[in-house]
Amino acid sequence: MNEKMFLIRYGEIFLKSKPVFKMFYNILVNNIREQLNREKIDYQLSATRERIFIKTEKDNFEKTKEILKNIFGITSFSLVDYLETSDIEKIADFVQSNYQNFIKPEETFAIRVTRQGKHTYSSQDLASKIGGLINAKVDLSNPQKEIFIDVRNDQAFIYTEIIKGRGGLPVGASGKILVLISGGIDSPVASFLMNKRGCENIFLHFHSFPITSHRSQEKTREILNILKKFQPRIKIYFVPFADIQNYIKTTVEPKYRIILYRRSMIRIANKIAQSEKIKALVTGEALGQVSSQTLDNIYVINQASCLPILRPLIGFDKEEIIKLAKDIDTYNISIEQCEDTCTLFTPKHPATQAELETIQAIENKIKISAKEKQALLKMEKEII
Ligand code: ATP
Ligand code: MG
Repeated sequence: MNEKMFLIRYGEIFLKSKPVFKMFYNILVNNIREQLNREKIDYQLSATRERIFIKTEKDNFEKTKEILKNIFGITSFSLVDYLETSDIEKIADFVQSNYQNFIKPEETFAIRVTRQGKHTYSSQDLASKIGGLINAKVDLSNPQKEIFIDVRNDQAFIYTEIIKGRGGLPVGASGKILVLISGGIDSPVASFLMNKRGCENIFLHFHSFPITSHRSQEKTREILNILKKFQPRIKIYFVPFADIQNYIKTTVEPKYRIILYRRSMIRIANKIAQSEKIKALVTGEALGQVSSQTLDNIYVINQASCLPILRPLIGFDKEEIIKLAKDIDTYNISIEQCEDTCTLFTPKHPATQAELETIQAIENKIKISAKEKQALLKMEKEII
């Protein structure tokens, strides 16, 4: 008897100690379940220490592939034929009757065998036997087609393709972080990279309604809907920023405004993080990309935060960020023109070397903290 099913391999979590492995593994299995449920796919999941198996109807194969490609912690997967035998004759018969059309006579091929457990034959024996049944030329170094056969004790798995996963760690395994998301190109990519290292992302977006439309919020929601393929459940805080910006605009000279906006955002983010028991913030900043992202300004902005601010894109060029944004499908939404908090309030010549003391003196004078408290009171939470 055979049935096609997905065989899922995971890499890095294997390197962990036994209890950590178990925890990461459970999170991974749970994430796979949630993503399949989210897409309303009927499935059966079974698991051994080394592999996870998913059975589903043929109609769901393509959809399931797309889902598995984006689940962090999976290094690769294959759609396999499963045989409940390790008998060399039975395996050979099966391959001969089911994989005959897979390799055309004019094509080159290789049989790749791995074996675990005790058998009456070697991997080489099995490869040669099957190779001899196929009417085409063998090429082990650069074949046009490959058939993989994994024999594990008294079972065999046969497949023709190893589909790459995104690797990384299962989302949730590294704890929670607060991602400042703007709707631009960079912050969704920063979010993706933190998910990749196993973080569960909680989001924070500052909007300038009613000075601007609701579009920046809608745009952020659209981006988050795309990011759900990496993290099935998403929580976002929307904080109104228009009052703070107006206030800074009317009381502070233009060149310092951007730094004050940023420090204000960071202080508010710290408060939200505290209430969520989150221990780090994340931004999409890249060194030198814009004037607020010089080392001097990053220093001054950092001083507004008790929590570490992680910047996964710090060493990335814009081109590299764009490539990733396209890969994760957020690029087209991000580039849509939309007046956001920053485009609207950015002065022509912002300071690139702000002094911390100067900035702190301004903040004390204008009593910005009262405005920040008001903004927090008007904050809205949404589950996406
Ligand atoms: P992005 O492409 O992510 O908008 P950017 O290159 O436009 O980044 P800035 O506008 O200087 O850079 O913003 C730097 C970072 O500050 C952003 O990546 C994001 O993490 C955060 N940020 C900026 N604006 C907002 C906002 N309105 N709400 C939440 N976070 C924001
Ligand atoms: Mg921006």
